[in-house]
Amino acid sequence: MNREYYGKLIFELSHPGRRGAAIPSNGCPQSPQLPESLLRTSPLRLPEVDEPSLVRHYTNMSNNNFGVDTGFYPLGSCTMKYNPKINEEMASLPGFASLHPATPAQAAQGALEAYWTLQNALAEIGGMSEFTLNPFAGAHGELTGLMVIQAYHRSRGDHKRDTVIVPDSAHGTNPASAAVAGLKVVEVKSLPDGTVDVEALRPLLGDHVAAVMMTNPNTAGLFESRVAEIAEMVHECGGLMYYDGANLNPMLGVARPGDMGFDVMHVNLHKTFSTPHGGGGPGSGPVGVRKGLEQFLPNPRVERLADGTFALTVSSDSLGSVSATLGNFAVQLRALAYILTLGSEGLMEAGPLATLNANYVKESLRDLYMLPIDRVCKHEFVFDGLADKSTGVTTLNVAKRLLDYGFHAPTIYFPLLFHESLMIEPTETETRETLDGFIDVMRSIAREAAENPEMVKTAPHHTPVSRPDDTAAALNPVVKYFDL
Ligand SMILES: *Cc1c(COP(=O)(O)O)cnc(C)c1O
Repeated sequence: MNREYYGKLIFELSHPGRRGAAIPSNGCPQSPQLPESLLRTSPLRLPEVDEPSLVRHYTNMSNNNFGVDTGFYPLGSCTMKYNPKINEEMASLPGFASLHPATPAQAAQGALEAYWTLQNALAEIGGMSEFTLNPFAGAHGELTGLMVIQAYHRSRGDHKRDTVIVPDSAHGTNPASAAVAGLKVVEVKSLPDGTVDVEALRPLLGDHVAAVMMTNPNTAGLFESRVAEIAEMVHECGGLMYYDGANLNPMLGVARPGDMGFDVMHVNLHKTFSTPHGGGGPGSGPVGVRKGLEQFLPNPRVERLADGTFALTVSSDSLGSVSATLGNFAVQLRALAYILTLGSEGLMEAGPLATLNANYVKESLRDLYMLPIDRVCKHEFVFDGLADKSTGVTTLNVAKRLLDYGFHAPTIYFPLLFHESLMIEPTETETRETLDGFIDVMRSIAREAAENPEMVKTAPHHTPVSRPDDTAAALNPVVKYFDL
């Protein structure tokens, strides 16, 4: 980080007359034939900057980013695994990258084959009959999946089903998606062991229930071991089971949602399948359905015809269309490259390794951090802050102090099951040395909290910005330098 450039806006580097480019005259007449009222009366206030200043400004800005390529990123619920560079190469092949979205199917056979291949790989991995890749994110997949479920109930003339049941441990997108789909949300409580309380669920079921949404393993990183029983109960009352696939990573090679009794699911390609994401995107949330629900998937669908060519088809039973064209194609290509690179053997190692890494970190820290649920976890786990609460050092303070040591903070204050949630997901792509380094630092911070709590409470001390007021930034964002 270069202090000369840090925190400066490009406008502040501007000097009248400085230029980074020289554009040759295009030979057009000086005054184009535009009405007087449309002509600018003062010059556009663009920054005037020489090329080296411009390059340094943006390069320094990019160096202030934290990413999977710069360090360990144990952000629970986000599966920030390493993104292999071959994925980028495949997604940027000119035949894919330059393809116009409106290219007719006959002239886009390669792209459609890529889509179709990924669709089938996901169906195999999820234990589903068919996938659509059209939704743009996990949350968009949830909405799409719920709309599939609504289309299914409607097709049977079953119009009473207006309710979705969501566990209290669910990600906020679950109730939000249900609300956007026009459904009522009812919450089901978790047991002290972190899993859904089956006895509390039973009386909530009935002929008004459209679906039960579950995440497995759930957001506390715990496997819902009674899921088969829950699926049976839900199916008995005529509802469907929706699988939030954001936590599919530890299940790779271990279990399939289709085999657990789920009818509809989404996967987050940008989590489980290594496509890069952060700061809200880019994403892709393919939706899979079990046999008998395919016709409700969004239009268009990609199908292989008897002659081996690929075509876009539409179904009149479909819920409609959820995206322009066929979704976030570059993200799909990265996921396909990842799946083909690993092959089924490699994929089957990913899940167990992610689980091993999470349990290794958990067991190495549990004497100093409070472990509210003492079970073998899957790919992630949650501490309820430091074990020693007497110092007043909070989860936020621990997270801020981690930044001083060059680690990205874990997810904090989610899930809402605990007051001081600190949710750690190491993923399978980290070395033993990186995990040990993180464990050492977490142990040092616990020691610092006991010996010098003030220092931890005022962290970070070594980052360019210390504690920005994120509430003010959200409520009163300043997004322009001056009035144009
Ligand atoms: C990330 C996540 C989502 C939402 O996915 P997006 O791709 O961010 O829209 C839903 N549920 C869980 C458990 C998640 O971790």
